[in-house]
Order: sequence, then structure tokens, then C-alpha cells
Amino acid sequence: MNIILFGPPGCGKGTQSKRLVTERGWVQLSTGDMLREAKAAGTELGQRVAAIMDAGNLVSDEIVIELIEERLPEAEAAGGAIFDGFPRTVAQAEALDAALAKRGAGVDAVVRLLVDDSELVARMEKRAAEEGRADDNIDAFKVRLKAYQDQTAPLIPFYARSGKIREVPGMGSMDEVAAGIAAALEEK
Ligand code: AMP
Repeated sequence: MNIILFGPPGCGKGTQSKRLVTERGWVQLSTGDMLREAKAAGTELGQRVAAIMDAGNLVSDEIVIELIEERLPEAEAAGGAIFDGFPRTVAQAEALDAALAKRGAGVDAVVRLLVDDSELVARMEKRAAEEGRADDNIDAFKVRLKAYQDQTAPLIPFYARSGKIREVPGMGSMDEVAAGIAAALEEK
């Protein structure tokens, strides 16, 4: 299974991805986590993307596509990939389709988590207090939301064309949202 968890920053993609890893043994492919690791390790890539990430802008398609391609064999071996925060542009979605097609696979479902904007801001503020992410501040968050609206939301019609989108309410408790995702994954 290749599943995309889709939605704006703070909608719960990361939390729900981790649950799917625990419950199903699939592999979470979070480009945000990969980039934060590179940044924390001070690698050349990390240094290149640090300022872009801290401001809330998207890093280049080439960088994230390469990061994802490197991890596809591992996800295939595990029997499932949960794409979390990738793809974020139509170019990334096309590259993912091409990379999966080469492996005789494709995107099976796009689970879209629906969360109100006011709730997103509240969650970001809570996470800022708990995790101290450099991009969890109101200015960077506004840039991230705008990047979502301008560059990522166009993926909704992109995936709707092939009937892959499953909408799941994302405002409930973690368990409720997880149950919604499980039900969405059962849909044929
Ligand atoms: P996330 O943890 O998914 O919210 O990602 C944190 C930051 O990493 C984003 O605001 C971007 O700067 C960068 N990033 C993560 N994934 C991508 C992606 N697929 N395309 C471009 N930039 C990304």
C-alpha cells in the first residue's frame, strides 16, 4: 500500500503516520523529518535548507524527490509507505507517480485530513511550547499555510481526477481520527 496523508501544516499527519507505523508495520516517509535530521546533523544539505525551512517556505522539488526515492526500497520491503508531507507540489506528485510506476506500483489512496484554520493555529502554538521547532511561530506558520494553499492544495484536483481522495474529519481525538483513517483505507 502506498498512502499519502494529506493536509495543511498541523492537521495531524505526523501523529497519525506514526500510529500507522505502529499498527501496520508500514514505513513513514516524512520529508520534514528527513530535512530536520539533516539540519540537526549539520550536513551540507541541512545547511542549505535551514533558512528556507525556518522561514516556512518549501525547499526545492529536486531535494525532496531525491530523499523520497532513496527510501522507496525500504518502504516496499515493509509492504507499505505512508507519505507524510510529501508530495507538496504537482511536480513532486508527478515524480512520485513516475518513481512508483518504475517499481510496478502507484499511489493507492490519498487520505485528506480536514481541520479548521483556527484549530491549526492552536495546535501549532501547543507544539511550539512542547517541541520548540524553529518554524512553529506565527510568522513562519502564516508562510507555511500560504505555501499549502498556493502550492499544495492544487494536488486535491490532481488526485481527485483518479478518484484517490478519501476525506477524513481531523478535528476529533487522536483515536477518533485514527478510526476515520482506518475506515477510509477499507473503502474500495
Ligand atoms: P513538515 O514537517 O512536513 O511540516 O515540513 C517542515 C518544512 O520542511 C516545510 O515547511 C518545508 O520547508 C520543508 N519540507 C518538508 N517537506 C517538503 C516537501 N515535500 N517539499 C518542500 N519542502 C518540504
